[in-house]
Amino acid sequence: MAELEGLEFGKSDFVLLDEVTMEQFMENLKLRFEKGRIYTYIGEVVVSVNPYRQMEIYGKDTIDAYRGRELYENPPHLYAVSDAAYKAMKRRAKDTCIVISGESGAGKTEASKYIMQYIAAITNPSQRAEVESVKNVLLKSNCVLEAFGNAKTNRNDNSSRFGKYMDINFNFNGDPTGGHINNYLLEKVSVFVCFQLLRGGSAEMLESFHLQNDAAAYIYTREGAATATSNNDRSSHKAVMNALDVIGFSQEEISSIYQILASILLLGNLQFESDGENVQVVGQEAVKHISELTSTDPDGVTKSLLYRTVATGGGEVIEKGHSEQDACFGRDAFAKALYERLFGWIVSRINSIIEVKDYNPVLHGKNTVIGVLDIYGFEIFDNNSFEQFCINYCNEKLQQLFIELILQQEQGEYQREGITWQHIDYFNNQIIVDLVEQPHKGIISILDEACLSVGKVTDTVCLDSMDTKLSQHPHYTSRKLSPTDKTMDFQKHFRIRHYAGDVTYSVEGFLDKNKDLLFQDFKRLMYNSSNLVLKEMWPDGQLSITEVTKRPLTAATLFKNSIVALVDKLACKEPYYVRCIKPNEMKSPVLLDDARCQHQVAYLGLLENVMVRRAGFAYRQPYARFLQRYKMTCEYTWPNHLMGSDREAVEAIVTQHGFQDDVAYGHTKLFVRTPRSLFSLEQERAAL
Ligand code: ATP
Ligand code: MG
Repeated sequence: MAELEGLEFGKSDFVLLDEVTMEQFMENLKLRFEKGRIYTYIGEVVVSVNPYRQMEIYGKDTIDAYRGRELYENPPHLYAVSDAAYKAMKRRAKDTCIVISGESGAGKTEASKYIMQYIAAITNPSQRAEVESVKNVLLKSNCVLEAFGNAKTNRNDNSSRFGKYMDINFNFNGDPTGGHINNYLLEKVSVFVCFQLLRGGSAEMLESFHLQNDAAAYIYTREGAATATSNNDRSSHKAVMNALDVIGFSQEEISSIYQILASILLLGNLQFESDGENVQVVGQEAVKHISELTSTDPDGVTKSLLYRTVATGGGEVIEKGHSEQDACFGRDAFAKALYERLFGWIVSRINSIIEVKDYNPVLHGKNTVIGVLDIYGFEIFDNNSFEQFCINYCNEKLQQLFIELILQQEQGEYQREGITWQHIDYFNNQIIVDLVEQPHKGIISILDEACLSVGKVTDTVCLDSMDTKLSQHPHYTSRKLSPTDKTMDFQKHFRIRHYAGDVTYSVEGFLDKNKDLLFQDFKRLMYNSSNLVLKEMWPDGQLSITEVTKRPLTAATLFKNSIVALVDKLACKEPYYVRCIKPNEMKSPVLLDDARCQHQVAYLGLLENVMVRRAGFAYRQPYARFLQRYKMTCEYTWPNHLMGSDREAVEAIVTQHGFQDDVAYGHTKLFVRTPRSLFSLEQERAAL
C-alpha cells in the first residue's frame, strides 16, 4: 500500500476499495489514469495502464528513489516490484520471476524493458568491466530480437510476434553474470528487419544481395510497405547491425544472417509455370541469386522447388514432380522455415554468448536468477485460428499458475507467521487446461491423431472427431452440439469457454498448421550448404530419405511441451506480477474506454485477485513499521513509547481504535483483515 500519495490520486492499492465491485474498480482505475498515475497495486501485483505518452517517471531520480526501498514507501511503480524481486533474490537467495501479461498493445514489452533497465541501473556499482559487458549484451539483445520478431499490426505498431522469457543470472554480489532467453511460437509475418534491410541497407549491401531498395517490390513485404513507417529504417538497420556486433556475432555470421533474409525475400517472388505436363520456375536469374546467397548448387535449388523425393513402400526412392500449386506451397513453407530457423539460431547464438561460464558455486556462492516473462496475452479476434488456440492455451496455463502461486504465497506467509487461514474458492481453470492438453482426450491429442492418420483427413473430419470425443465437456461446444447457435458454422467452428471468455475457433488450416509440411528436400539442400552458419541451422537435413520415417512432433505438441517447461521453470520461483491494461483502441493518451477496460479487468481476474487478497488479510506490515507510521494516534505510544515490545505497542494502538477483532498478530507482522480499519487510522493521522 503506497502511502506517499494523497487521496486525490485515488487509491494506490485496489485492496483499499470500499467494496470490490467492477464499478469501484473502474472508477479508481479511471481517476488514477486521468491523474497520470498509470500504476496501481493489488497487494504486490502491479496493474499498469498504457499511458500512450512519454512519462517522466523512469529517470535516474526515480530509480534512486526506489532503490532498496519497500513497496509501500513510494507510489506504485514497476521499479518497486523490480526492486522487491531483486531484494528477494539478493537477500534471501531466492530465484524470482516477473510475469508480465496483458493483451496486444497493453505495454508488456515496454514494461519488460523498464524492468531490465532498472536492474541494470542498480547493479554493479563498482562498474566492473565484465559485468558491464554482460549487462550491455542483455540490453542489446532486445534490439535484435525486436527487429527479427516484431511487426506492425493493426493493434500495435511494435507488436511482438513471439513470446519471450529471459533469465538473468546473478552472482553472490547481486551482479548479473549472464542469462538465457527462451522464445515461444514466432508468428511468421512481415517483420521489421526485412523493411530495415530493404529501406535502410546501404546501396552496396543491397546490390550484393541482388535486392532493390523498395519494400513494395517483394511479395512478402508488399502489404506492410504501404503502412509501415520508413523514416527511421536506416538508423534502425544500423542499430541492429551494431547490436549484433556488440553482442558478439562475427562479421561472417552477420553477413550470413542478412544473406538468409535476402534469399527469403527473393524466394517469395519466385513464380512457377506449367505447360500442362512439366512445372518450371519462371526466371532462372533469381534461382541463381538464391543459390549464391545460400551457398548451394543452383540445380539443387531448382530441383527442390520442383520435385519431392519419396520412398515407396518397397523401399525404392523416386522423384515426384510437384504441381504448380504444390510448388507454390513448398516455396512458402520453405521461406517460413528459413525464417523460423534463423530466428531460433539467433536466440541460441545469443544464449551461447551470455551463458554463465566457469561458475563455481563453492567459490562464488549460489547463482540466483530473476526471470522476466513477456508473452502474448489472451486473444479474441473476429476470426480465430490455430495461433489464437495456442496463445489462449498458454494463457490458461499461466492463469493456472497464477492461481496456484498466489494462493501458495498467501498460505505460505500465514503459515510462517503462525496465523490460521480460511481457504477461499474461486474458479479453477484446470478443467480448461485439461480440455486442451489431456493425453488421448484433449484437443491437441485429437489434432495430432488426425495429422498422423494415413489417408485424407480434412479439418472438418477432425472437427467431427472433437465433437464426438468432447460432447460432454462443459467448456467445449460446436454447432453440432448446440444446433440453435447460428453464430457457428457446422463445417468449421468450435468454441471453447475460456476462463477469460468464449472464443470461437475456425478449424480451417488447423491440420496444415499443426503438421510439419516442409519437404525433406529443402532440409537436405540447406544441410548441404557450404555456408556453415546455414548448415548448422538444419541438422535434420542430414537424414536420408529412407531414414525419415519417424514423424517430427507436431507444432501443437512442440508448443505444449515448451509451455509446460516454462510453467515448471516459473513455478519454482517467487513470482511477481505485472498486469497490463490497454486503455483504448486509438492509442490515445486521454481516453479510457470503459467497456474495453472492464473486459480486460474481468479476464485478467483482477477482481478475484483483490478478493483473494482481502479474504485473507488485506494489509500486513512489520510491527516496527506500523508503529512508526501510527504511533502518534495513541496515548501509549506518543509522545513516548510506553509499551514493552513493538508488538505490544501495536496492540495498544489497535485496541485504542477498536478494531482488535479485525486483526491477527503474526510472529513479526500485524495482519489487518479489512482496509476500513486502516482508513480510520489514516484519517486520524491526517487530521493531527
Ligand atoms: P504486443 O503483445 O503486441 O507485443 P505489448 O503489450 O508488448 O504488445 P508494447 O509494445 O509494450 O505492447 O506497447 C505498445 C506501445 O504503447 C509502445 O510502442 C508505446 O508506444 C506505448 N507504451 C507502452 N507502455 C508505455 C509506457 N510505459 N510509456 C509510454 N508509452 C508506452
Ligand atoms: Mg510486445
